Amino acid sequence: MPIVPNSASTDPAPGTAPLPASCDAVIVGAGVIGLSIAWRLASRGMSVVAIDRGYAGCGASLAATGMLAAAAEFEPGGLDLVALALESQRLWPTFRDALEAASGRTIDYRDHGTMLIALGRDEVARARFRCEQQLAAGLESRWLSGEEIRDREPALRPSVVGGILCPNDHQVDPPRMIAALKGALRSAAGTLVEGTAVNALDLTAGRIAGVTTTSGAVRAPLVVLATGVAIGSDGLVPAELRVPVRPLKGQSLALRMNAPSDLSHVVWTEQLHLAPKGDHRLVVGATVEERGFDSSVTAGGVYSLLEGARRALPALEEMELIAMWSGWRPTSDDDAPVIGATGLDGLVLAAGHHRNGYLLAPVTAQAIEDLVITGRMPPIAAGFDLSRFAGANATRPTQEANS
Ligand SMILES: Cc1cc2nc3c(=O)[nH]c(=O)nc-3n(C[C@H](O)[C@H](O)[C@H](O)COP(=O)(O)OP(=O)(O)OC[C@H]3O[C@@H](n4cnc5c(N)ncnc54)[C@H](O)[C@@H]3O)c2cc1C
Repeated sequence: MPIVPNSASTDPAPGTAPLPASCDAVIVGAGVIGLSIAWRLASRGMSVVAIDRGYAGCGASLAATGMLAAAAEFEPGGLDLVALALESQRLWPTFRDALEAASGRTIDYRDHGTMLIALGRDEVARARFRCEQQLAAGLESRWLSGEEIRDREPALRPSVVGGILCPNDHQVDPPRMIAALKGALRSAAGTLVEGTAVNALDLTAGRIAGVTTTSGAVRAPLVVLATGVAIGSDGLVPAELRVPVRPLKGQSLALRMNAPSDLSHVVWTEQLHLAPKGDHRLVVGATVEERGFDSSVTAGGVYSLLEGARRALPALEEMELIAMWSGWRPTSDDDAPVIGATGLDGLVLAAGHHRNGYLLAPVTAQAIEDLVITGRMPPIAAGFDLSRFAGANATRPTQEANS
């Protein structure tokens, strides 16, 4: 049984290009966030180089399920983050169309919606309360009876008592998305350099002048750090700009559905989510574990995923188990991303997207594009820069769920 990130269906075409001596912008990190930013800046005519110490997506991005779950992730109190998430959800169809057109690839964007199901009477009260909270926050959620849920998804266990339909919570397929972003960056004349680590930022007269890498130096007046979980610990940012981001481990697995009709919506239980993909994979995720940089796939993790998934979908017993993996969500002290300028001229941050990197990719790329082109962040993203942590503990409310 392979312990591999997600699916092998991504385009393995190497993005390794020679490192140029200079460019307009260096993007450090080629995950979903770095690649989205690199593509958007390149398509504005800038010469852009995205650099990854591994390969594109090798961090959290290929470990993700790819849910765009603004409503399912909602927790009361996280209203700034919900507004950002809803804006990104609004941007997603345009982002998808542009990405697919630029790359000539599909990203398996599936708009069936997400259902949060209650498996038994004791879960119903909690699910109903959750639905009321979502409606009060202006989300387009809808309560469904057990019968209505089973009409939509007949393969679910008959004991489903009811649940919430989140019609705007769609999904994409991470391996396809990363492959498309690579293609789109290439078609916008951007450069992707893989297998090269950025060791240090180059500073001249107190501002960014480029980066030093394991393959040489690149001069650039703008550096965007999109290094995911590494941003919190790799020492690239000057000490006074400490970015409070830590790894939050998640284990997931993939099964092969016997028929596409086994499931079409993304389905959440209280413990986990089931996300059917267009190629008949069913992604089951994810554990939530505070284990530092431990990447092991454990018997306990896999057992809890299989047991929880079987509770919702009995047909799972007949499905082939095709992959299992783990990843680290890049999680900030307040669970919200760190996006924007820093006190250091030419240095921009885009990291800490926790469980929402795919959901927030369009709004993050748009915010950085606006910042670079106009000098200003859009108001909806302006409160998410590093300064919110300055001198105090984070106070932004958090969200909790199982992605
Ligand atoms: C199990 C699991 C399930 C998830 N499910 C979802 C989901 O359904 N929906 C959703 O929206 N989000 C989900 N997430 C969260 C999502 O994966 C992340 O928020 C997102 O991938 C973060 O993207 P990123 O580009 O910031 O980071 P990463 O993908 O980690 O990319 C950072 C990159 O930086 C590179 N790097 C680091 N340091 C350096 C350096 N010094 N030099 C060069 N390169 C460097 C790394 O190699 C890496 O490739 C999930 C996460 C996990 C773990």
